[in-house]
Amino acid sequence: MAIASINPVTGELLKTFTPLSDAEIEQKIALADHTFATYKHSKFADRSRWMHQAADILEAKKTELAIIITLEMGKTLKSAIAEIEKCAHLCRFYAEHAPQFLADTPATTDASCTIIRYQPLGAILAVMPWNFPFWQVFRFAVPALMAGNVGLLKHASNVPQCALAIAEVFHAAGIPEGAFQTLLIGADRVANLVADARIKAATLTGSEPAGQSLAAMAGHHLKKVVLELGGSDPFIVLHSADLDLAVSTAVTARIMNNGQTCIAAKRFILEDAIADLFIAKFVEKFKALKVGDPMQPETDVGPLATPQILHKLDAQVKASVDAGAKILIGGYRLKDKGNFYAPTILSDIPLGAPPYQEEFFGPVASIFRVKNIQEAIALANSTNFGLGASIWTQDLEEIELAIEQIESGAVFVNGMVKSDPRVPFGGIKRSGFGRELGCEGIREFVNIKTIWIA
Ligand code: NAP
Repeated sequence: MAIASINPVTGELLKTFTPLSDAEIEQKIALADHTFATYKHSKFADRSRWMHQAADILEAKKTELAIIITLEMGKTLKSAIAEIEKCAHLCRFYAEHAPQFLADTPATTDASCTIIRYQPLGAILAVMPWNFPFWQVFRFAVPALMAGNVGLLKHASNVPQCALAIAEVFHAAGIPEGAFQTLLIGADRVANLVADARIKAATLTGSEPAGQSLAAMAGHHLKKVVLELGGSDPFIVLHSADLDLAVSTAVTARIMNNGQTCIAAKRFILEDAIADLFIAKFVEKFKALKVGDPMQPETDVGPLATPQILHKLDAQVKASVDAGAKILIGGYRLKDKGNFYAPTILSDIPLGAPPYQEEFFGPVASIFRVKNIQEAIALANSTNFGLGASIWTQDLEEIELAIEQIESGAVFVNGMVKSDPRVPFGGIKRSGFGRELGCEGIREFVNIKTIWIA
């Protein structure tokens, strides 16, 4: 895949980049390794100051940076601005809390003194996706840098200008150049990086096949890896739910980021008692969505990021219809130019049709009807994914059942699944392993050292 910015609205090639040569990659790894020797001794006070400065820069330049995001991957400008603001919040969160998350922890044993210490590992490779091109990178980089690691970013090939802009933000904030570097390279160069002894661990956010590939490489070289992969999150609505709030949240949860979010609600599991009413309101709201130029403030849904995603989504919808599913709205590509797809709702989905197992990465909602909470949970758990889940009910027993039995990294009750710096984020099953964010996230890439003084 060429490293290039292509406007998803027009298909216009904005800029291409020559991938780094082997010699240039070597220089960057050597610089990372060299920088780590001193960076690991930098004080929390300095790292925190740099992160506060990074937050200041993000806030000051939020529109300028958001425009790069929208031009490269097509999310609405307003959501791109929100993404930059969220990154600033993340920088401030870890600037304030990392010292406490990584402070020496005493333990009680039969020794005279026992302490657990958290030490950085070295250079960490981050392979990142385009869908939240700033947030995904910051979610890795901020805790890694606060822990004293250094980062090497291999960003998705369609967001090179985002990748370069992120490195500029960190460097302008005072973080040493070698502590965070962008490698403009294709996926075919990742194997050599993972094999390099100076790279101590890796993290990948992206698709299942990419995750499998990186995990295999990391396994071969016995390196720690964190994987944040795909999802097909259930959104369960039961009879006691606040229906209007559930419907409006359902729409946001499905179309946010033009439908290209790992934790988007993708399967809407409705109890029979409220299903007809929910569907009527849901379809009305989908009808009202404005699809168009993501730079315009009134736009709700912009284009998909690439023609490949558009074609895959269209093929999944067609395969679902061929299997017997009904289209309540949408179901087609919208314009000749650009990667626009009509907001779509599928219902009457036969068992085994694509929405049962596949991730639909675009504005397509799949509706399922169930008799009760037990059926809802069984259906929720019937995919290979396990990222997030949202359940809507006022019944305390149902809430407890859902929390206990849904197989996922998060359960949100009467709310939309989201990431938040204060709590861990990640999946189970084929959605990946390891955690980002919170205290758990910053402890993924550290040596948790036991100190035992007899
Ligand atoms: P992708 O094709 O897997 O790409 C993600 C990154 O992996 C890119 O940098 C890509 O590089 C690289 N890559 C692809 N194949 C690789 C391989 N064999 N070895 C090493 N690196 C490889 O995923 P995407 O289409 O960009 O992103 C969408 C997917 O990400 C969805 O499934 C979504 O659910 C998931 N996602 C998960 C989370 C989460 O937190 N769990 C968050 C966001 C997205 P190139 O661009 O150069 O190919």
